[in-house]
Amino acid sequence: MRAMALVEAGRPLEAVEVPEPEPGPGQLLLDVRACGVCRTDLHLLDGEVEVTALPRVLGHQIVATVAGSGERVGVPWLASTCGECEQCRAGHENLCPRARFTGRDVDGGFAEQAVADERYCFGLPGDYPDEQAAPLLCAGLIGFRTLRLAGDPARVGIYGFGAAAHIVAQVARWEGRQVYAFTRPGDEAAQAFARELGAVWAGASDERPPDELDAALVFAPDGAVVPRALEAVRPGGTVVCGGIHMSDIPALPYRLLWGERTLRSVANLTRRDGEELLAIAPRVPIRTTTTVYELDRANDALEDLRAGRLTGAAVVVP
Ligand SMILES: [Zn+2]
Ligand SMILES: [Zn+2]
Repeated sequence: MRAMALVEAGRPLEAVEVPEPEPGPGQLLLDVRACGVCRTDLHLLDGEVEVTALPRVLGHQIVATVAGSGERVGVPWLASTCGECEQCRAGHENLCPRARFTGRDVDGGFAEQAVADERYCFGLPGDYPDEQAAPLLCAGLIGFRTLRLAGDPARVGIYGFGAAAHIVAQVARWEGRQVYAFTRPGDEAAQAFARELGAVWAGASDERPPDELDAALVFAPDGAVVPRALEAVRPGGTVVCGGIHMSDIPALPYRLLWGERTLRSVANLTRRDGEELLAIAPRVPIRTTTTVYELDRANDALEDLRAGRLTGAAVVVP
C-alpha cells in the first residue's frame, strides 16, 4: 500500500510503498477514507514532539471502513492506554504514562490502510461525509476538551482561529456562549471566517477585546499569546492552552495571574470526550470547513497549515 511516512525529522514526508498492515489481537484492519491534518503533525515533522521510532506514518484523525464489514469508524490520537495505572483508574486515561498515540507510536492514517485497537475507535455520526468527519477526531475533540476545562464561560476568547477553533466556536455558540476570536495580526480572512461562524468580535491576538472574558482557549502555538490571554480574562477566569507544543511563554508580571486566574493545559483526550462530542456534533450541527488533498500531496497540506493559508481544516484522502 501507499503511505506518506516521516523518515527523518525536519524533512518532508516521503511517499513509500509498504506491505499491508496486519491486525494483531483486538485490532481492526481499516481502509482509510480520509485523515485530518493537525498542527501536531507539524510538531512531529519538525521534531518538536518526538516520534518513538522512524519511519512513521503520521495522521491521527482517521475516518475508515473496517475491512470485511464496511462499518465506518474514527481513529483518534489516543491509540491505547494501559488501563491499570493510577491515571487510568481515576478516569484520566489521557494522562496515562504508557499511553500510545496514533501517528507517533503506531502508524497513522496518511496511508491507504491502517490498523487500530478496536477499543479506542469511535462510531461516527451517519450523515457526515468522510472528509467532514475527519477534523472532528482531533481538532474537534481537543477543542471540546479545552472548552470543557475552561468551566462555564459566558464570554470565551479563542486565540488562533484554525481547525480546532472553527469547531469549538460552533459548540460554544450552540451552548449560548459569546465567542471572541483572536487571529494573527492582519489575518482578515480568519477574522471574517470567525464572524461567519458567529463570533461577536474578531480581531488580532495583540488587541484587547471590547469586553472582559470569562475564559480564553489558546490554540495558537505561540507562547507570547498566553500573557495577552491572561490580561483579557477577568479575575477568577481561566486560560486553557490546547496545543501539544508551543514556543516559550515569556516572563509575565504576577498581576496577570493575580485575582485567582487559572492557567492550565489540555493533554490528549479521553474516549469519553470523543463520545460526548460525537453525540452532540449532529445536534449543533457542527459543520467543518475543509480543504482536501490527495495522499501524495500531504506535504502541501502541512505547509499550507504552517503558512496559515487554510480556512478550517486540511484533510488527506488516499
Ligand atoms: Zn491532533
Ligand atoms: Zn494507564
